[in-house]
Amino acid sequence: MASEDEISLLVIVLDVNPIWWGQQAQREPEFTLSKCMDAVMTMGNAHLVMNRTNKLAIIASHCQESHFLYPSKHWKSGDGAGDESTSASSDGKYELLTVANDLIAEEIRSLMARTDVRGHQTDTLLAGSLAKALCYIHRVSKELEAGQEMKSRILVIKAAEDCALQYMNFMNVIFAAQKNSILIDACVLDSESGLLQQACDITGGLYLRIPQKIALAQYLQWVFLPDSEQRSQLVLPPPVHVDYRAACFCHRTLIEIGYVCSVCLSIFCHFSPICTTCETAFKLPLPQMVKTKKKKLKPTT
Ligand SMILES: [Zn+2]
Ligand SMILES: [Zn+2]
Repeated sequence: MASEDEISLLVIVLDVNPIWWGQQAQREPEFTLSKCMDAVMTMGNAHLVMNRTNKLAIIASHCQESHFLYPSKHWKSGDGAGDESTSASSDGKYELLTVANDLIAEEIRSLMARTDVRGHQTDTLLAGSLAKALCYIHRVSKELEAGQEMKSRILVIKAAEDCALQYMNFMNVIFAAQKNSILIDACVLDSESGLLQQACDITGGLYLRIPQKIALAQYLQWVFLPDSEQRSQLVLPPPVHVDYRAACFCHRTLIEIGYVCSVCLSIFCHFSPICTTCETAFKLPLPQMVKTKKKKLKPTT
């Protein structure tokens, strides 16, 4: 059982891709970004009040930047409650939550207000946001007092499509998380995400594509709020089939069969005598290559 002093840090990475959310507002006006924020805040609040040592961070993953919504630069832990800008809760709500929620709403508003989408860059910078989350977890773990332990996990709330361009960065982040035993959970709002399926499978997290977006708050509370210990006692949605296709390094397309450089493990969709990543020259004569290619392909087709 978790001891009283064990710190549980939850980092929520929220995909705020303005293009996807803009289209979503037209598809389903009843589920907008602000509704999604409400659900995320509800979950964050629930996590904070479960235990006094619980910690929370929320990162907005935009197509231009990754931005900390909480704790933000304007947040001063400790004197937050004494700040004159603090709207002391009138309804008996825990003051920390009031302050935190107001701040998160303010941050997301200013982030979306300064959005200026120009032509090409429309992919969510998810790999970058995850890397930021890992850095934050690392920093918090360095600030622990002696004898304190910390368990951390990352929850990704994914809206827009996967970006094959980020494949390399994404896989590096996943393996870094696995090495530090940080769980990655994924709550997917739209189309299935192969990258996140792998992330959850490798780190032992939960992957769920929610059937009804409007019920996001319920899914977050039921599936993603309990930590890994409590989950074993719950009846949760069954694990998904993981799409383990890799993206080739030459075109970033997902492939099932490809060539792997024996030196640096780069993946290519076609044979090339020189590896473009590590520049190793392979001494195999071409006719033999054709033979081995046929042999390799046979059993799988
Ligand atoms: Zn390729
Ligand atoms: Zn190579």
